[in-house]
Amino acid sequence: MRTGLYPGTFDPVTHGHLDIFRRACTLVDRLVIGVAINRDKGPLFSLEERVEMVDSTCGAIAREMGVEIVVHPFENLLIHCAQDVGATVIIRGLRAVSDFEYEFQMVGMNRAMNDEIETVFLMADAEYQSIASKLVKEITRLDGDITKFVPPEVATALKAKYKR
Ligand code: ADP
Repeated sequence: MRTGLYPGTFDPVTHGHLDIFRRACTLVDRLVIGVAINRDKGPLFSLEERVEMVDSTCGAIAREMGVEIVVHPFENLLIHCAQDVGATVIIRGLRAVSDFEYEFQMVGMNRAMNDEIETVFLMADAEYQSIASKLVKEITRLDGDITKFVPPEVATALKAKYKR
């Protein structure tokens, strides 16, 4: 029984993330999606809202892929969270070269703390590779069309945030 942990801020969850959920399901028996509190990043959505959005979008993927998916909010160190949930693999998505340097450092430092947990990088389908939560928020704020980037319920939640 292999458990993988896919951590992120998911502010909000996008089709890029969903594509990685699906791909991660081919590698593990149980996928824990770790939703980071990430106060430093000043998320637009509260932790509860982000957990709810991930939860409501990953049920269909769990059924389709026949893998148990658990949504797990966390505030502690990633490597401790992985230990807490019994993960032997940490999954991260890679987009552009710009993601690489930070991820490279993370792997090195996480490995120094626990050498038994591997980090695996996955790339989304070409159609979703350029999607970034930050840009989706910016497009919504400027009244652009985000339907290609996020599931319908997330688009509705985003529009509601910026209407206020
Ligand atoms: P973080 O704060 O950890 O960067 P994000 O929610 O922005 O949280 O992203 C979580 C993970 O998903 C990261 O590994 C990120 O690289 C990956 N990711 C985000 N968008 C995409 C995408 N469009 N394609 C592939 N991976 C992605």
